[in-house]
Amino acid sequence: MKPLTEKEIRAAFVNCSKGEASRLNVPRDLPELPWEDLDFLGWRDPQAPDRAYFAVELDGRLVAVTLRSTAAASWQARRSICSLCVTPQTGNVALLVAPRAGQAGKQGNSVGAYMCADLACSLYIRGRKDNGTRFHESLTEEEKVARLLGNLAEFVGKVTA
Ligand SMILES: [Zn+2]
Repeated sequence: MKPLTEKEIRAAFVNCSKGEASRLNVPRDLPELPWEDLDFLGWRDPQAPDRAYFAVELDGRLVAVTLRSTAAASWQARRSICSLCVTPQTGNVALLVAPRAGQAGKQGNSVGAYMCADLACSLYIRGRKDNGTRFHESLTEEEKVARLLGNLAEFVGKVTA
């Protein structure tokens, strides 16, 4: 993906207030990230461990989403599969929940999915990060990237519906 700036990321949030989008913690090392290996930018908030975010370009538009993770204890020891990149993980999958955009979110509606807890899906499907399991798929890297982006688009679609 093309490198993003802090300003672009903050302006792209669809499911939180402008104030929250301006205060939340964006990665400090944006210029040093391995952008050529990323299909989307996902990160955990270093100052609020239950918070996670991602930004992805869909149909030429950058969309960013805020997420909250459920308590670590419930998933930590379990092996599970990320619903975005479909990579099996050992103790590294979290149930992340996004408030829905607009009125639905204000009424408390949310969308949840199991995701790689560090949101480094792009690095797992490229073998750049070890997921601790032996698992081989017949899909090519391009096919895995397409599937990842399709799953992200579906998730964002539910958040913004
Ligand atoms: Zn993943």
